[in-house]
Amino acid sequence: MSSEEGDTPCVELFDLGTTRHISLYKADFTTYSPLMPPVFLNTANQQRFPAVGTGKLAIHVPNRRGETELILNDALHTLSVGYILVSLGALDEEGYYAHIGGSYLELDSPCGEHIGCVARTHKRLYKVSHDESAHAVEMLTVMELHCRLGHIAISSACKLIESGTITKVNLDPSSKEATCDACIFTCATRQPVPKVRISPPAQNFGDEIHTDV
Ligand SMILES: [Zn+2]
Repeated sequence: MSSEEGDTPCVELFDLGTTRHISLYKADFTTYSPLMPPVFLNTANQQRFPAVGTGKLAIHVPNRRGETELILNDALHTLSVGYILVSLGALDEEGYYAHIGGSYLELDSPCGEHIGCVARTHKRLYKVSHDESAHAVEMLTVMELHCRLGHIAISSACKLIESGTITKVNLDPSSKEATCDACIFTCATRQPVPKVRISPPAQNFGDEIHTDV
């Protein structure tokens, strides 16, 4: 089971050429409102792509000890770019300070605290690449897992994760098993499945079969 972000590393690009913060990663939004209808953004090469949501976006800027979390306001969520675009113009408008020099972009908060520094790449971009694993692993509750896997028995669903059959999903250890309305409804309305086979088993690959999961 793979999330919408796929397997590519998460890239943050700090840019003067963009007027909005833009991100592919919905999971990084700390507040989120869908945009209906979508807002269309124009690129420098005259292409248009839709933004489908907006909210506060949490990103991580490297500093000398590790990383500083930075919250970007009014960020847009789009599935049309493969990275995070951080608008230096939008940060400046909010009072942040950016200094470029010595192969680094240094970022300071409106009250002068050092947030972090982004190294210039050989392609002259101020870019941060994060380990893909932080984005590729999704935390699900027991009941979310049960629903995503087509309402199979909860113990079976958990075993698929424990055995490593399903990857990129972690089970929220604090989540609890609960009753599932869909399962109650289905059990109440489905035809009974006999415990003992009463008709000959399917003879050919692709024949119709009935199971009780
Ligand atoms: Zn269910």
